Amino acid sequence: MNAISLYFMFALSLLVTSVVNAREIALTFDDAPTPDSALMTGQERTEKLIATLTAAKIPDALFFVKADYINDDTRTRLKKYTAAGFHLANHSYSHKSASELGAVDYPVDVYKAQLLLKPFANVLPYHRFPFLHYGKDLAMITSLQQSLTDLGYKDGYATVDNFDWYISSLLTNAAEEKKTIDYEKARKFYVETLYESIEFYDAIAQKSLGRSPQHVMLLHENDAAALFVGDLIAHLRAKGWKIVSPQQAYQDPIARNFPNVAFHKQGRVAAIANSKGVPESELRHPSENETYLKQAFVAAGIIKNQ
Ligand SMILES: [Zn+2]
Repeated sequence: MNAISLYFMFALSLLVTSVVNAREIALTFDDAPTPDSALMTGQERTEKLIATLTAAKIPDALFFVKADYINDDTRTRLKKYTAAGFHLANHSYSHKSASELGAVDYPVDVYKAQLLLKPFANVLPYHRFPFLHYGKDLAMITSLQQSLTDLGYKDGYATVDNFDWYISSLLTNAAEEKKTIDYEKARKFYVETLYESIEFYDAIAQKSLGRSPQHVMLLHENDAAALFVGDLIAHLRAKGWKIVSPQQAYQDPIARNFPNVAFHKQGRVAAIANSKGVPESELRHPSENETYLKQAFVAAGIIKNQ
């Protein structure tokens, strides 16, 4: 073998290694179609998200619909997502905590959403609990899992939890108060905070599963996502991550590993780690806390005249 073919073999092995080691993540957006805000109308938000996700050439994204947001105006937004090739799923009708509604009333709420989603194209049979509240104890959790299976649903779990909704609300509140937002600083804050949460849950997965699973990122259909999710995608790719479709991510073996614990509100990876003895306190990133995030947000100088 001459030097050139040796070099070629070496380059090929590097390429294979990087492909094998590419960590994979799918993007999901909860609470669609979220109402107008001081920063943008719902229609503008939808158009921005579609333009960004399409330009980034991600294979697909799943929008978990809060069905009581559906009206004549927002219906067209959901249709824009599906026309662009993205998919919809069930995030209940009223977005109440299943732990509070209970094993009888919660499935009724999900069924109401199922009926409202029926006329849409591209609906996938996944359901995600509001607040990731799976039920207040193991008996309720088990009963709800059975009811959702009976309704034809698979668990639309997330593996990466975060407080993107709180970052978005800080930006929207600033706009309501007519304060000036430094968008470059906001972009950096959003990308870094969310990227940290991804690495945090991936490290937990690598410890408790011995591998990096195909992740499912929990985001929201909010202003921050419309403004910055393209930057998050670019950052992920620069760090060697690959964006996969939610359908593909839900083929990972962890989809069939529903841990028998009451702790589900930080997502599937945290629940699995908890079932293997990791305490809840170690399964929540510090940024999943409003006080912590608010302080970091202020320190980042995102709002100019506060
Ligand atoms: Zn939600």
